[in-house]
Amino acid sequence: MKTIAIIGAGPGGLMAAESLARLGYTVDVYDHKPSPARKFLMAGRGGLNITHSEPIDSFLQKYGEAAEFMHPMIGYFTPQNMRIWCAELGEETFIGTSGRIFPKSFKSSPLLRSWLERLSNLNVRIHPRHHWTGWNEKGELAFTTPEQKFIKADATILALGGASWPKLGSDGSWVNELEKHNIEIAPLRPANCGFCVNWSDIFKSKFAGTPLKSITLTHEGKLINGEIMISEKGLEGGAIYALSKSIRTAIETKASTTLTIDLKPDLTIKQLEEKLSHPRGRDTQTNFLRKQTNLSPAAINFLYECGDKTKPLAQQIKQVQIPLTQPCPIDRAISSAGGIKLHELDKNLMLKKMPSVFAIGEMLDWEAPTGGYLLQATFSMGVFVAQGVDKYFKTANI
Ligand SMILES: Cc1cc2nc3c(=O)[nH]c(=O)nc-3n(C[C@H](O)[C@H](O)[C@H](O)COP(=O)(O)OP(=O)(O)OC[C@H]3O[C@@H](n4cnc5c(N)ncnc54)[C@H](O)[C@@H]3O)c2cc1C
Repeated sequence: MKTIAIIGAGPGGLMAAESLARLGYTVDVYDHKPSPARKFLMAGRGGLNITHSEPIDSFLQKYGEAAEFMHPMIGYFTPQNMRIWCAELGEETFIGTSGRIFPKSFKSSPLLRSWLERLSNLNVRIHPRHHWTGWNEKGELAFTTPEQKFIKADATILALGGASWPKLGSDGSWVNELEKHNIEIAPLRPANCGFCVNWSDIFKSKFAGTPLKSITLTHEGKLINGEIMISEKGLEGGAIYALSKSIRTAIETKASTTLTIDLKPDLTIKQLEEKLSHPRGRDTQTNFLRKQTNLSPAAINFLYECGDKTKPLAQQIKQVQIPLTQPCPIDRAISSAGGIKLHELDKNLMLKKMPSVFAIGEMLDWEAPTGGYLLQATFSMGVFVAQGVDKYFKTANI
């Protein structure tokens, strides 16, 4: 029987391993970390938003330019298939108010535990502490374990992840090796990330870690309602992650861009002006603002920190303009953009320049917002690539 080497024991690699083992292949999974799926476990800390319940057309649109590429894979292993797969591993899922889907336990660890047990029953062998460094002159896979080790496989699946949270394993160290083989790779950049803001020391010391809730963010015509978090380095949180692709692209092309924040989207400028026209009496400005507008202390101080004092107060509240020039570092981003350019792959996810080598997951050049789209795509690619490997052996008659 053919042997398949999968490098990277994240959700993509493990899903490919399960699917190939079910097709009867001998599967070995290698990872340089001491235990598998560390990023998947980290995703569980936020509740593990595993997929989304929206109709498939709008689901696919979340992949932007990569929507067409994703179509066959998401169609092959759909969000509904994902829910069934979780349930079969003993983890029922539910649809949250936003349409996002989570396991009822809100964790990854029980799901991963039953999954690893299933993989072991399917005779999938997982080899931790194997750092892949490329191929030797005989075309064998080279690992540092820490001794040098060479392994021959009939097909290889690279599932090495992107470059966010490198301490969990995906550190982008594969880029140089693939570039040596003339594989075109778009630079790995932070996605679903925060952006740096140069806060004053006093503002940072008082408000880092405080959310700004029920606000509206606007960037180049795109509008997001939600909340953000003031952090030591700048702005983080769901609403800014949702705009991060747009903001990052604007910074890449124009060096800087402006984010506009409406701190009181439920009130019009006129309504705010009316409220602020009341006599202030003996109240401090802060107390007056709090009483009249119900803004939180963090929002009021954010206004003092960033508002344009030449404008009337009501207008400042509706339009706080933040200049942004830099995403927060990739090591704290939820995911990364960039990776192996999609034109390098054939329709079975095999590298056109390297027959028998396939690639899946976050190491490919696509990105998506948070909402379960990252894991769904990664899982779908894991299932899909198994068919690709199988077809490769059958059609190439190897
Ligand atoms: C904090 C956080 C929360 C998240 N929450 C969600 C969420 O709720 N929903 C969602 O959809 N997505 C979420 N994500 C994103 C999601 O976890 C990733 O998109 C997903 O894990 C990517 O899977 P992957 O298999 O492609 O890569 P990874 O999970 O990154 O796995 C790659 C594996 O390859 C190994 N590896 C890398 N290089 C080598 C090498 N040279 N040799 C050997 N092994 C190597 C790594 O150790 C790693 O185990 C979150 C991410 C983070 C950081």
